[in-house]
Amino acid sequence: MDIDELRARVTAELPRIRQDLEDLVRIESVSADPARAAEVQRSAEAVATLFSAEGFEDVQVVSARDDGRAPAVIARKPAPDGKPTVLLYAHHDVQPENDHAEWDSPPFEPTERDGRLYGRGAADDKAGIVAHLGAVRALGEDLGVGVTMFIEGEEEVGSDTLADLLAEHRETLAADVIVIADSGNWDIGVPALTTSLRGLVRVDVGVRTLTHAVHSGMWGGLVPDALMTLTRLLTTLYDEDGSVAVAGLHTGTAADVDYPADRLRAESGIAPGVGFIGHGSVVERLWAQPSLTITGLDAPKVDGASNTLTASARAKLSLRIAPGDTTENALDCLRAHLEQHVPFGAELSFELVDTGEATQIDATGPAYDAARKAFTDAWDGVQPIDMGVGGSIPFIAEFLESFPRASVLVTGVEDPDTRAHGANEGLHLAEFERVCLAEAFLLSNLAD
Ligand SMILES: [Zn+2]
Repeated sequence: MDIDELRARVTAELPRIRQDLEDLVRIESVSADPARAAEVQRSAEAVATLFSAEGFEDVQVVSARDDGRAPAVIARKPAPDGKPTVLLYAHHDVQPENDHAEWDSPPFEPTERDGRLYGRGAADDKAGIVAHLGAVRALGEDLGVGVTMFIEGEEEVGSDTLADLLAEHRETLAADVIVIADSGNWDIGVPALTTSLRGLVRVDVGVRTLTHAVHSGMWGGLVPDALMTLTRLLTTLYDEDGSVAVAGLHTGTAADVDYPADRLRAESGIAPGVGFIGHGSVVERLWAQPSLTITGLDAPKVDGASNTLTASARAKLSLRIAPGDTTENALDCLRAHLEQHVPFGAELSFELVDTGEATQIDATGPAYDAARKAFTDAWDGVQPIDMGVGGSIPFIAEFLESFPRASVLVTGVEDPDTRAHGANEGLHLAEFERVCLAEAFLLSNLAD
């Protein structure tokens, strides 16, 4: 349909989209908090009500669990003859809001300041839900494709039952194109399609050097303590420049994108005077190379530490793996490295915590052509970049696996200052309008 007409319709829908978003943000759908399970349920029902009001058929709140937890919403508008079906994904659960004192306005009371709408889930990912809804509303009778909404209720706690849901509702969810609106754009004014994501391997590694703790004055200098042994072992995991020294891990390639130095320092939160680690372009380091973080350490506390040789110590390692690598390979490489490098013959323990596969999406074909055109039109001629994401969104791999013939597009409402998962999460309202426009244009292009 005519692009200016559609643009005008999206603009006209924005106040109602905004109202729906605010209503959803007021529901405390924190999936990680068992005490708020009823809120997650209420949130699913609110989403279902929005879809019913929009004329969707077979609107259902579904759960793969016996106890009804992690409710997802499925709703359909069947495709006209010969037209494709598009699955629109978002999630209605949110991260815990944590310390209210760190928020400048109450986390569950949507509040506008300086062009942003603040609130938990105002961006991640309730804005994704209403962007889908807004596009469908704007197209109205001119929606020339089938649309299936799939709004998950446990993304923020790891999508444990997503594979079950996709299997149970395979027929209903089958689609030619899948739009996953849970990522973001490169910058304000610069759209992006997310085409790769790093994977994750988390392990707990421990060392034991003594059968029991002993006096450091009596035995220090002869018997290795566990903390020294563990820190020496952890040091071997890094090269001189801070990059990962584990042999056999894969390194991929990234788009040729410049990350301005001032933006990098501001967004990363790096302290003044601290240098960055690794080598290669910034986005190669963030998107296409492995990285390793020591995220926890069990050792005696500093306050009250006694003059004792520590018998055992433990660390949690979070290894991000490059697109193109597998968690199986990364796990083997990491384990082999630790076994080869553990000093003094210390007893090593190695326990897998969890994994999430990396993703490399084939960003070619008619759906990608339609999306690139839609984004370029929505952003007034600025073409979308192929963006990587350093973190994992394991459920994307589930979709690729469950629907291997569908084109998967990963879009989203976030910008570099969204602060999803943090205090003062906020949606950039002008960019949000473009997200809604882009999605309406995309559905329209796919209908053609
Ligand atoms: Zn999300």
